[in-house]
Amino acid sequence: MSNRQYEYSKSNSGNRYHEYSLQGGGKSNRYYDYNKSTSGSSRKMKELLLKSDNQVCADCDAPDPKWASANIGVFLCLKCCSVHRNLSSDISKVLSVTLDEWSEEDIESMVEVGGNSSANAIYEAYIPKGISKPKPNASIEERTKFIRSKYEFQEFLKPSLRMISSKSSFKTCASGVDSDSFYSLATSRNATDASISIGTLKVKVVRGINLAIRDFRSSDPYVILALGQQKVKTSVKQSNLNPVWNEELKLTVPQRYGALKLQVYDYDTFSADDIMGEAEVDLQPFIAAATVFSDEELPDDMQVGKWLKSSDNALMKDSTINIIGGKIKQEVHLKLQNVESGELELELEWIPLHQ
Ligand SMILES: [Zn+2]
Repeated sequence: MSNRQYEYSKSNSGNRYHEYSLQGGGKSNRYYDYNKSTSGSSRKMKELLLKSDNQVCADCDAPDPKWASANIGVFLCLKCCSVHRNLSSDISKVLSVTLDEWSEEDIESMVEVGGNSSANAIYEAYIPKGISKPKPNASIEERTKFIRSKYEFQEFLKPSLRMISSKSSFKTCASGVDSDSFYSLATSRNATDASISIGTLKVKVVRGINLAIRDFRSSDPYVILALGQQKVKTSVKQSNLNPVWNEELKLTVPQRYGALKLQVYDYDTFSADDIMGEAEVDLQPFIAAATVFSDEELPDDMQVGKWLKSSDNALMKDSTINIIGGKIKQEVHLKLQNVESGELELELEWIPLHQ
């Protein structure tokens, strides 16, 4: 094994896919040999390549990955690489391991993250039930869905990290990849004044279904939405357990936003209003998707994200985030919590700052 050399050869055919050989004596006219390099970062890169977790693709476990995403810090197979290449380059900067054009900075970036298992400890911290990593023979659609969820929408981060903009790269703060220090670095980077607005959330309260009875035979429901200290409310619908509001309410979204909280009350003229249930909307998937597309010309109608139904949220069904007619929208169907019955339908729409 001591004669083994990693040889990084560049073909002069102009083909993007370069030859990779594990033994010396390659025929290429130029090559970069990490064994002969005196640079410390190159030596570290070689050590990184030899680690067992980097012998399989970070996204699908296919053996012998020959590609890498320099800013994310993972090694990838050709098929996953082609998906990464379709992401914006500030999400994933794809390089061939066999290219001889690796900059010191790119190598440092890879070394800093520490390879596939360190990166996956962050990007795959919480993969929800029902979602699994693609297999090496997965279809391009399955692969694309997983890779976009993993890196672009960052849906599998631990929940406390999910408030970071999807556009931020982890390369500068993933060092050491101890998740607590990662968290503090990441949050301090994001710890700008809470009053800075990143956009406006328009919430259309569509309707209530089968709401609870609080008066003699019915209720006079209205809905309060709260985001941080802001509160807005709908009108009161008299004696109606299936009220249709279709009312649009607006909330300013600060840089550090929490969940959208929602409460349904029964209006009472003579006494305190009675609660008829509540629910929370995790805004992270929606705002992450909105942030990704905020600076760009929006593509044609397409699905750009999803908030998944789970046992610890109030969703009645998975809630998809879509671009519809140039706007980013999400339909949310909630089961009201802490009440005997009731559902609520909302439609979220994102209004970017400069519009
Ligand atoms: Zn792969």
